[in-house]
Amino acid sequence: MLNIEKVMNNLEKKNPGEVEFLQAVREVLESIEEVYNENPQFEAANIIERIIDPDRVLMFKVPWVDDSSKVQVNRGFRVQFNNAIGPYKGGLRFHPSVNLSILKFLGFEQIFKNSLTTLPMGGAKGGSDFDPKGKSNAEIMRFCQGFMLELWKLIGPETDVPAGDIGVGGREIGFMYGMYKKLASENTGVLTGKGLNWGGSLIRPEATGFGSVYFAQEMLKTKGLGFNGKIVGVSGFGNVAWGAAIKATQLGAKVVTISGPDGFVYDPDGISGEKINYLLELRASNQDIVKPYTFEFPNAQFFQGKHPWEIKMDIALPCATQNELDKQDALNLVKNGVICVAEGANMPSTPEAIEVFQEHKVLFAPGKAVNAGGVATSGLEMSQNAMKLSWPIEEVDQRLHLIMKSIHESCRKHGTEKDGYINYVKGANVAGFLKVANAMLDQGVI
Ligand code: NDP
Repeated sequence: MLNIEKVMNNLEKKNPGEVEFLQAVREVLESIEEVYNENPQFEAANIIERIIDPDRVLMFKVPWVDDSSKVQVNRGFRVQFNNAIGPYKGGLRFHPSVNLSILKFLGFEQIFKNSLTTLPMGGAKGGSDFDPKGKSNAEIMRFCQGFMLELWKLIGPETDVPAGDIGVGGREIGFMYGMYKKLASENTGVLTGKGLNWGGSLIRPEATGFGSVYFAQEMLKTKGLGFNGKIVGVSGFGNVAWGAAIKATQLGAKVVTISGPDGFVYDPDGISGEKINYLLELRASNQDIVKPYTFEFPNAQFFQGKHPWEIKMDIALPCATQNELDKQDALNLVKNGVICVAEGANMPSTPEAIEVFQEHKVLFAPGKAVNAGGVATSGLEMSQNAMKLSWPIEEVDQRLHLIMKSIHESCRKHGTEKDGYINYVKGANVAGFLKVANAMLDQGVI
């Protein structure tokens, strides 16, 4: 029988202070307890202890020279968590907050997310505490090259295929891919999120946001609803948020918020079309994007130090970062009649916020299901690279859409409660876990 408190106590002793990692493991254990106890073969093979420890962690220093010829040192990581169902796969995050706890939480989540996509990919994550904000193009290039000088030893198209995450977009992937290619003397699909001219897939940049909206569409359908005419709140304005804003608008919704670490913007006229293009231009030039928006579009208001969740909205898409939506935010959303909360980011809602949504029977789904379209399209990029061809936009989009529907179906199958409420947290964790645990059983103790 699974003794969650005992497992968590041991884990805490081994990983002191790793708050985010411990939070992610507890959530999964609580969801899978029942199915684990029903399958004694999992306990016989000690699956829990094997799945909550990463296969390996690489930590390295990245010295690089800034534009004023000063030598800077950052710390780099790659956490290879589990490869039972395929090569390690997961993004790289460049942000000053990056530490081992955050990367272990993300790598652990990635195991179950990748399992849900139906594609053969294991779980991993990596990154650095390097802050790309305010850096010149040349500094970013030198850092990416220094980072790859260590990372390339551990990765490869059949072993570990990193991608982007916070602070790592097409430009950074390009610099890292260039260095990898030179070091490994090969031109293969070792990173995903590549440029279209050198092995990238159509739709990959938008895939996480598009997929999140496709998933939310399936959630709404269970209530006979859709995006048309709905008010949508989005947080952040990065890779995930802009794709979600574009797709929600295409489906007839009005997106009224975006946010940054210092506050959020409310635009009652809707954030779409030329406004999104304006934001993308600001982003591409490394500038702060949230405040300048209100100068350009004066009907919009900026709320310093606040979260968008106090605005009245039908659908909430948190797309910024972990633990950005707390209990009070959840209570505000519920009070204002929110119908659906779909996590575009990884673990943006605190456990207390999730409890509020579930108690009030709000449609709520976790990042590992909602945002899996990003890694799924990375998987499609790997397939195209292996076949040495590229699929047209319609084909990638159609496959992405099918995958999101299939993930929704898995959540429904494993998460529907007696009263018909779908517990997407449980559904996603159980479906993701079963596939990986069974693969581990098949492959013996390794
Ligand atoms: P980006 O770096 O492109 O964007 C992050 C956005 O969130 C930026 O607009 C950033 O603002 C904002 N932000 C950062 N911290 C906060 C905060 N504390 N409060 C409010 N806004 C904040 O990252 P991505 O869009 O790639 O990633 C966002 C989330 O989605 C992460 O949780 C990531 O793990 C997850 N994810 C990403 C995938 C992808 O394909 N990119 C795939 C699956 C999940 P600013 O730039 O001003 O700091």
